[in-house]
Amino acid sequence: MGDSSTLRHLLLSLLVVLLSISAVRSFFGRLMIPDPPDRPRIKRSPDLPLRFNHDGTFKILQVADMHYARGIGTRCRDVTPSEFAHCSDLNTTRFLRRMIESEKPDFIAFTGDNIFGSSSTDAAESMFAAFGPAMEARIPWAAILGNHDQESTMSREELMLFISLMDYSVSQVNPPLTSIDGFGNYDLRVNGAFGSDLVNSSVLGLYFLDSGDRSTVEGVRGYGWIKESQLAWLRGASEALQNVKLNNEWNTLHKCEVPALTFFHIPIPEVRQLWFKEIVGQFQEAVACTSFDSGVLHTLVSMGDVKAVLLGHDHLNDFCGEMDGIWFCYGGGFGYHAYGRAGWHRRARVVNIELKRGEKTWLGVQRIQTWKRLDDANLTKFDEQVLWDVAAR
Ligand SMILES: [Zn+2]
Repeated sequence: MGDSSTLRHLLLSLLVVLLSISAVRSFFGRLMIPDPPDRPRIKRSPDLPLRFNHDGTFKILQVADMHYARGIGTRCRDVTPSEFAHCSDLNTTRFLRRMIESEKPDFIAFTGDNIFGSSSTDAAESMFAAFGPAMEARIPWAAILGNHDQESTMSREELMLFISLMDYSVSQVNPPLTSIDGFGNYDLRVNGAFGSDLVNSSVLGLYFLDSGDRSTVEGVRGYGWIKESQLAWLRGASEALQNVKLNNEWNTLHKCEVPALTFFHIPIPEVRQLWFKEIVGQFQEAVACTSFDSGVLHTLVSMGDVKAVLLGHDHLNDFCGEMDGIWFCYGGGFGYHAYGRAGWHRRARVVNIELKRGEKTWLGVQRIQTWKRLDDANLTKFDEQVLWDVAAR
């Protein structure tokens, strides 16, 4: 990193801290709580590393496309006339709180279009409100960007830096010392349960990628895509995760697989082929992505550890379909200011990962399941399915 870029990075960090303090004050001010005293605010962090529970589970809530803007002043789109009168961004907040209460997730993955930039007057305020329920609940969370997040007062780099500094966020801007396209490429690992032999070992990988917003390549129009620099980093991250496994005597002995999940916003072109395959869920709109094939599927298949990819972007699609041994699952539209379909409930996806039960201790991952819930009176659970099971291999 050169001198000018170091200086730019420092200035940007300072800007984000100042914005953060101002947004926290305005957020607290609205809640009628006195301003916090004039001292540097320290980020609240979750207990790390992430790890499985005593009951051998790790549950992820995927929140796709909140499209949050200004809170109560932002009206809902595509709801029924009877819902419209009292509907705002606060319905999105309420749905997130209900999902957290009902599912008690161990981790929340926000898969982009978290805020709807063109309706927001202050990106920091919109983000504080959008991610607020995760922070209130003190649940570790991570976010990536969609194609709309940067349309108000912050660039994609500023947004990711800001998100990485928010309470209980485990998001990162990019891997350190790496030249990589986009902002929000990072990996997380989940350790085995306390009291098990794998307490200090990674048993699950979570990969996050920035799928961009619009094409930046001359002559190619449309949405962005994941670039080779990102795939090169991803291959390295996967190798490192699998090396942990190989270097761990216990794992080698018990031949545990260390599976991974991948999260990005804009689908890859191959997802279109799932129209002709058996899927679980609904395929109601065309897959809106570039036709440029950057080799994401090939890379994921060659890595071998990724069992499912969690997508956002197309709000009316909520299906899971399988290609080359990898499931591609949409979250389905979550936010009320996002386009949707009147009468078709907003929804969220849950991914539940279970460890294998050994004679005396929890082993590695046994099974990855998923289901969805509707934002209706009962948070109806549906489309439950197994994405991967070690016994089936
Ligand atoms: Zn969206």
